Amino acid sequence: MDQPNILFIMSDDHAAHAISAYGSRINHTPHIDRLAEGGMRMDNCHCVNSICTPSRANILTGQHSHVNGVQTLADKIDGNRDLLIQKLLKNEGYTTAMVGKWHLGQGEPHDPTGFDFYSVLQGQGPYFDPEMIEQGKKKQYTGYTTEIITDLTLQWLDSRDKDKPFFFCCHHKAPHREWQPSPKYATLFDDRDIPEPETFYDDYSNRSLAAAAAHMRIGRDNKIADVKSLPPTGLDEQGVKKWAYQRYIKDYLRCVQSVDDSVGTLLDYLDASSLTDNTIVIYTSDQGFFLGDHGWYDKRFMYEHSLRMPFLIRWPAQIEAGSVCDEIFTNIDFAPTWLDAIGLDIPKDMQGVSGLPLWQGKTPENWQQSLYYRYWMHTGGGKQYGHNVCAHYGVRTRTHKLIYYYGKSCGTTGSTDDPVTPLWQPEWELFDLVKDPNEMKNVYHDPAYADVVKEMTAELERLQAKYGDTPEH
Ligand code: CA
Repeated sequence: MDQPNILFIMSDDHAAHAISAYGSRINHTPHIDRLAEGGMRMDNCHCVNSICTPSRANILTGQHSHVNGVQTLADKIDGNRDLLIQKLLKNEGYTTAMVGKWHLGQGEPHDPTGFDFYSVLQGQGPYFDPEMIEQGKKKQYTGYTTEIITDLTLQWLDSRDKDKPFFFCCHHKAPHREWQPSPKYATLFDDRDIPEPETFYDDYSNRSLAAAAAHMRIGRDNKIADVKSLPPTGLDEQGVKKWAYQRYIKDYLRCVQSVDDSVGTLLDYLDASSLTDNTIVIYTSDQGFFLGDHGWYDKRFMYEHSLRMPFLIRWPAQIEAGSVCDEIFTNIDFAPTWLDAIGLDIPKDMQGVSGLPLWQGKTPENWQQSLYYRYWMHTGGGKQYGHNVCAHYGVRTRTHKLIYYYGKSCGTTGSTDDPVTPLWQPEWELFDLVKDPNEMKNVYHDPAYADVVKEMTAELERLQAKYGDTPEH
């Protein structure tokens, strides 16, 4: 059979719990769901550094952030490096393209390399009328960015070199803040309240101080641009929080709806062009997001809602329709899996592993039982820039999660007036994900978990040694 095409659709900050195929309580995504119906839903897919720029680098390099050098939003990809998935595929005879959000730097040597065609947003890019960098030159577009990215994708697919298999990255900026829906969906959800999540009124007790110190509380920390107006007068603190959540989540979900439309348009194109059978279609997002979970918006933490990535994949030739995979899979595994899927060797410098057997419904006996995570972005002012989330690293297995907060720049009260003061002593958290899937109780100091602490600490040390990362003391 001919080598498969790869259509890699990635949005920005789209949490799995805002996709109906993942059981969303708050919205319906019929087109993204088509991938789950016709392929596989991966339920344990996670990022290794929950922030936009690093996650994109993790995906393209198959490496952890401390190895590829992209650890924070301020870091940029080195376009001269050979170990980029698009270059490896291009060398193999693929035609390659990237449209939409790049966010890995601009100008030499950070512009996209290894793509036959690219048209990318500058940095985060706006929701309307984007000026793109297209093949090294600025080009102004008019309209809603999600639709423009979809149109550019269709145009390229139509005009591509059809003698070659393709690798296409369609990377939406939506639904990143500050959320601006398409006029088409401006009034969607106006007739109802969106349910608040179970942990919306979290008071951050029974955990490290890191959670309480974070500046991502809905109602208190969001900008006016996030909710588009000042709260109505006369509301108390809880009233403002409830009001801001509805304002935030509705605009977020309206932006998601346009992304869902985009996926539908692209899947229809594949059907109409007889490309469906031999195209691997993936829908994911660069990381998860707090949708009011723990009272928050944003991401960064190793907590579940931010760590988890949606990952839906359809490949009729190899993947059983309607299948579900619960094995641990991370964003450094994407590139190795693509290489394996088309029959190429995985370069030894890639740190991820191939999940091809998982896609084929077979779990290898030695499949990874844990993942390593690290978030560095605790500098840069500590407030809006880093949301005052102190640096941490940790390990997650299928049943437990161990986190070590070593950051030294978090304030201790969580108040936006709190200056960036030296952190308390470093802190540990252990969560029992089976008994406490919402991570509301740190059991690190509970004697009943002494053995688990020991095992998880050993696993953390093993992974740091394996990946060549340096522990903090
Ligand atoms: Ca993101």
